[in-house]
Amino acid sequence: MEIGIARKVLEAMREDLDRSILVLQGEHPRARGAGMEAGDAGANLTEADRNEAAVESARAQRAEVVAALTRVQDGSYGKCVDCGQPVPEGRLEARPTTARCVACQAKRDRRRR
Ligand SMILES: [Zn+2]
Repeated sequence: MEIGIARKVLEAMREDLDRSILVLQGEHPRARGAGMEAGDAGANLTEADRNEAAVESARAQRAEVVAALTRVQDGSYGKCVDCGQPVPEGRLEARPTTARCVACQAKRDRRRR
């Protein structure tokens, strides 16, 4: 993927995530970690928890996008962060935040489980 295009795609992803995070936080201000109100707190807990999980996941995705943008800037985008081999084009197109080649990602996933 051409680096200019990658940068545009990643910047658009970051903007989308920023918006999603704002919307999610706006829906349930409690998910921000603000003080719990007495009364309906119990009833809303599950929903607030789900919302918090959604915010966390959006934040994690945003961190990946920012890391990819940093690699665009320092010229290492498209190379595996572990072995330095080029990441296949199709893989980058499917997931522009991809930081590793297939082999290194598989190794990493195995370690996690
Ligand atoms: Zn690799």
